[in-house]
Amino acid sequence: MSGVSMQEGAIVLDPFAVRMVLGLVTLILIVLTSVSSRRQRSPYADWWRVALCLFFLGNAAFLLNGTPAQLWASPIAKALVVAGAFSVWAGARTLRSHKVGLWQLLPAPLMAGLASVVDDPGSNVWSGGLVYLILTMAGILMAAVELWFANPTRSRITKFLSIMAGITAVYYLGRAIAYALEGPAGEFFRTYFGYAPAALMHLILLVAVSSTMNTLSNKQLINRLRERAERDHLTGLLNRGAFLDLAARHLVRASPEQGGALILADLDNFKAVNDEHGHSAGDVALRAFADACTASVRSTDLVGRYGGEEFILFLPGATQERAESIAWEISSRLSAKRGPDGLPFPTVSYGVTSTGPDAPDLAFMINVADAALYSAKAQGRNRVVGADPVEADSTADHTTP
Ligand code: GH3
Ligand code: MG
Ligand code: MG
Repeated sequence: MSGVSMQEGAIVLDPFAVRMVLGLVTLILIVLTSVSSRRQRSPYADWWRVALCLFFLGNAAFLLNGTPAQLWASPIAKALVVAGAFSVWAGARTLRSHKVGLWQLLPAPLMAGLASVVDDPGSNVWSGGLVYLILTMAGILMAAVELWFANPTRSRITKFLSIMAGITAVYYLGRAIAYALEGPAGEFFRTYFGYAPAALMHLILLVAVSSTMNTLSNKQLINRLRERAERDHLTGLLNRGAFLDLAARHLVRASPEQGGALILADLDNFKAVNDEHGHSAGDVALRAFADACTASVRSTDLVGRYGGEEFILFLPGATQERAESIAWEISSRLSAKRGPDGLPFPTVSYGVTSTGPDAPDLAFMINVADAALYSAKAQGRNRVVGADPVEADSTADHTTP
């Protein structure tokens, strides 16, 4: 049996051969998605795999058309394909962190199967055809809508998937309309919407969607790895390298008038906390300080762990006065908290600087803030010392505790 034959000048695809190819490709995609996403285990990839399995089984059951098994295979095939369409929808919903219950998934496949059962499935391969086409379209259309409104950080990929699903839904709408108007034996229906052209369409879509799924999984994995590489494990703040990168980028991009302020913070006599209460008590204090920092700044400000018990903050657009008052706010937040044993957390010393109208340089700002911090320690700790980068050699104590 040949896959393609010429009939009065038109290319006619052999339904059986196309179905076999579709089955094989789906099987390969199932194997590929099982292997490639084993380590990632994202819910949408799992749902896509479920959908592929259902499409594969549905397609296999359709191959029994024309045999005595058609009586039971035809309703089952339609139920499986509709279940596959609704699994695509379920997967799309997980991208918006929405869950799908079995009660939402089962009615449509049951209806498709039932519509086929009551429509003489033994002799009519298109038994319950209209219900089957409309329900498949509904599942895919709902998936297209979910994908369109999925997480904006992955918008380009999910928008592409949404368009793919939209095209499929429109195709199924066309199938349903042609079916209703002309019936499955009609010339137009058979040429554009029959078994063979539909199988070809599914073939293209499955390959396109599966490879995009892979890109989506990889992107998610890269984001997770980047998050790990940029964050300090103990406090969840930016680590030193990531902070320096981001702050330097801010300074280059920001207009000189915008500039920003830099705060260096160092916990006072922290070694004593470790020595007297243990290393884990020290860790709790570091986390409490990190929380006090993030609670005191805006989401656009950068907070990093510079190393050990030293922290660094960059506040884009902030003035010297504002940065100094934020430093005090962090300390007052920390002093209001208590450790697990009821003990107060250590006090903190700060060196604060801000960019003048001249071209700002991050390394220079850090040096200036460090000198101010040193001065805060020398003056007895638990204080904020501000320094003007333009007059880098003359640090001045703007505030007293
Ligand atoms: P100063 O007021 O002059 O800053 O005194 P200090 O004791 O805070 O400074 P010092 O540099 O002598 O000690 C810093 C301590 O921070 C020593 C180190 O063991 C501790 N430390 C650094 N990283 C961590 C950490 O991740 N967890 C804990 N628990 N301790 C840490
Ligand atoms: Mg210290
Ligand atoms: Mg230190």
